[in-house]
Amino acid sequence: MLKVAFGIDDVCPTPGYGGYKKDLESIYYLQSIYPEIKFTFFSSIYYEKPGDWQQFLENLSSVKNVEFAYHGYSHISSKNLTTEFDDSDFICDFKLKAMLESWTVRNIFPKGFKFPGWAVNLSFRYFVEQNCKYFAIHPLNYSEYPTILNWTVPKISFNYSLGDPILPDLNLCKVLILHCHAGLGSDNHLSRENIGILTGLLSVYKQDQIEFCYYSDLI
Ligand SMILES: [Zn+2]
Repeated sequence: MLKVAFGIDDVCPTPGYGGYKKDLESIYYLQSIYPEIKFTFFSSIYYEKPGDWQQFLENLSSVKNVEFAYHGYSHISSKNLTTEFDDSDFICDFKLKAMLESWTVRNIFPKGFKFPGWAVNLSFRYFVEQNCKYFAIHPLNYSEYPTILNWTVPKISFNYSLGDPILPDLNLCKVLILHCHAGLGSDNHLSRENIGILTGLLSVYKQDQIEFCYYSDLI
């Protein structure tokens, strides 16, 4: 039996980042091939520009088997800025509180956290350890932020970035932890070409040999 956890980063209300036409078409396409597929959406409150939450959730309501995970507050994307969760504790706490409230007010309770790639402070660490079942992390971040290894919350790293021609050895690990991005800005977005590489990788398995799960099920 092969476990498959499908994580999509940056799904958020900002137009162009998940929940919109192109990504939804890809998600429906995946569901048509794998009716039992589950998705973990790593979602910030917005991506640099606010979006329409009502429209966002309405669009996603047609997608079954979804789990949300935190992916930051405003997801500042400039490489020169490291301020998402590396401000003074006061500013960091403000962002974490605003982020938390944006979800709870909508009765959505994300289970995990993947920070958007930059430095984090102690306040952030406490938030994750107290509010999250797991911490999803890019494998590269272990070398950039080695102290993360000491965090008590369980950590999950992906073992395949969608579209990467170097494929994981599924006979060896028996679990495929996928990482990709909503929107069109990344190499590993949900293009038909990238999805084709995935379906090729999974084609040696029958549907009943694949157990689709959320990231939180991997703990
Ligand atoms: Zn991101």
